[in-house]
Amino acid sequence: MSDVIQLLPDAIANQIAAGEVVQRPASVVKELLENAIDASSDHICVVIKDAGKTLIQVRDNGVGMSETDARMSFERHATSKIRRSEDIYAIHTLGFRGEALASIAAVAQVEMETRTREQEFGTCLSVEGSVFKDSEPIATEIGTSISVKNLFFNVPARRTFLKSNSVEMRHIIDEFFRVALARPDISFEFFQNDTLTYDLAKGKLSRRIAELFGDSYRKQILSCQEETPTLKIYGYVGAPEHAKRTRGEQFFFINKRFIKNSYLNHAVMSAYEAMLPEGSFPFYALFIEIDPADIDVNVHPTKTEIKLADERTVYAIVRAAVKRALGTNLVTPSLDEQENEENHFSVLSRISRGEDRSLRHSASEQSSPQRAFKQNSALKKADTSQWENLYSQPQDQSYFNFDDSPADHPHTESPEEEENALTFQSAANRMPSGGSLFHDSTHGTSEQPFQVHQSYIVIQVKSGMMIIDQQAAHERILYEHYALALERRSGVSQQSLFPQTLVLNPADIALVQELQDEISALGFDFTIFGQNTVVINGVPTDIKGGNEKEIFEGLIEQYKSYQSDLSSNKRESVARSIARRMSVKKGQKLNPAEMSTLIDRLFGCLHSDYAPDGRKTYTILDLDQITDFFK
Ligand code: ADP
Ligand code: MG
Repeated sequence: MSDVIQLLPDAIANQIAAGEVVQRPASVVKELLENAIDASSDHICVVIKDAGKTLIQVRDNGVGMSETDARMSFERHATSKIRRSEDIYAIHTLGFRGEALASIAAVAQVEMETRTREQEFGTCLSVEGSVFKDSEPIATEIGTSISVKNLFFNVPARRTFLKSNSVEMRHIIDEFFRVALARPDISFEFFQNDTLTYDLAKGKLSRRIAELFGDSYRKQILSCQEETPTLKIYGYVGAPEHAKRTRGEQFFFINKRFIKNSYLNHAVMSAYEAMLPEGSFPFYALFIEIDPADIDVNVHPTKTEIKLADERTVYAIVRAAVKRALGTNLVTPSLDEQENEENHFSVLSRISRGEDRSLRHSASEQSSPQRAFKQNSALKKADTSQWENLYSQPQDQSYFNFDDSPADHPHTESPEEEENALTFQSAANRMPSGGSLFHDSTHGTSEQPFQVHQSYIVIQVKSGMMIIDQQAAHERILYEHYALALERRSGVSQQSLFPQTLVLNPADIALVQELQDEISALGFDFTIFGQNTVVINGVPTDIKGGNEKEIFEGLIEQYKSYQSDLSSNKRESVARSIARRMSVKKGQKLNPAEMSTLIDRLFGCLHSDYAPDGRKTYTILDLDQITDFFK
């Protein structure tokens, strides 16, 4: 047999490589922005048309390229950023693989205009599907402008794979935000279909945060700073009471490169400890400066993954830094600064020497911020109770809103208690199966449902005992309720006395836009203003006013987490999201009336056996099984 192995032609090799680097328009935006930054620009302009599907243009005022370099830049593995293998361990630039431009040019029509300071005329180049088309001198500013047109024009399969414009735009904005946050020392303009949507001046990080997320953030963020011999941390963390139901506003940068690292994220979250209500996420934008030799950015071509040489130490320092930020800023500063600094330093230097055994009691616990905490514990308590109040509302009766559930609290010896028992009995009798699962209601108290670990409801039935998962059951009930409302568009809205203003990031706004129909059909009455504001005028009648914001945000967050589940359609995901968000959770105490209404409602459902995601809602332990236990 003759030899069969051949080298792939460049164009094909590039196209294959492009699969890794260029997944969607947002990847192009990221690569071009990184190149512009690496070129020492201090002003960058981005133009996006049709969510990047027709045009992505990035213009910078950086160093530019000579004619030869301009041509070379489109070759694979062509880079000016590293020369020797050792350079990989001393990377100070965002790029270094020399893959991006070659990959982009393999799957799009690319035009480049560039000029260096030394040149009188610049170069205009065009490349289409890895093929050079044109090159001519051009009068142009110093710097580089790259236009990427008709992405995936020659890979129809990928083009059809792209999501709706709002989804792609959200990814683009996410990338833009990461870069814009990382570099407040660079001014940015961002045009979306001819509209200037972000016009960011050079300035401090705090100002950049306010420009991106809204002015209110100025008052919601706390400065976080820490320096040890091996690394430096700075940035801002959100005050816990402003934590959101969405995870989207959490950013880590290592040497000004955005990274994702769940371990470090955990360090931050654990610093907040009990300050955060469950299911809420604080804002943070934290920068770590560390010797490039201690990190390995070579893990993945898209480079959001990063390996740290000594993750545990960094974890400890991050946690201590955030704790300190929260501790010293939330309470009135009554510290002996000097003592604080000394203690703090000694702990941190121990940490940085890797002696992290004592880290469980992190720096801030040992140093005087803790004293400040103690002194101000009353203040802190007041604060916490506020958060608790805010978030305890979902447990509130209104979230049950079962017509026949009287509003009261468990274990109050009120006449209502008796009434509740009655409600339950009637509930049992109204089971779809004619109540046959249950004993006669005349059996009285033995059929009182009761709660186990505030998570399960147990009730005696004819054949033994039934255990109901309260959350799964409630999700099923709410899901069917909202699915119906969506189908019939019958969600009724109740106007709020005071419209609530909700500030979201543009990515979430794009999502709200996409789901506008569905959310309205549920009964939300809202208007989108500008790039980041939703005004909620009314909510579904079964949602009690007062925490419209949490519900709305929670709905969006939940939807995002279901989005990856491709099998479900938009409407179903929305119904599932709101059901999950509004359901009673494990750990919530229910009174007898609530329990019986829950049971009643569950068995009035079309599919009472399973929660929308397939979890079982209840199980029955037969008397025989129980007897067996004792044999
Ligand atoms: P990398 O950034 O990994 O080096 P790229 O394919 O992104 O690889 O870019 C290749 C080379 O083209 C870069 O190393 C740089 O020399 C040059 N280049 C790309 N974009 C710009 C720009 N905006 N300004 C100046 N030079 C650029
Ligand atoms: Mg690059």
